[in-house]
Amino acid sequence: MKYFVNENCIGCGLCASLCPAVFTIGNDGMAKASDEKTPEDEIDAAETAKENCPVGAIEQVK
Ligand code: SF4
Repeated sequence: MKYFVNENCIGCGLCASLCPAVFTIGNDGMAKASDEKTPEDEIDAAETAKENCPVGAIEQVK
């Protein structure tokens, strides 16, 4: 499983603070998701970030 941040991101930083292993804030101030497969032990944190993103910008990719 991987995640993807879509164009709705407003750069609030919540995902990067909840799950820094998967989400980082790029030079443009917007979040990016790791290209790597999400480690099993990071999935709960990544799901929490996805559920709490205020604009629903985090999508799950198979
Ligand atoms: S929580 Fe959502 S809006 Fe905030 S930085 Fe992450 S993807 Fe962007």
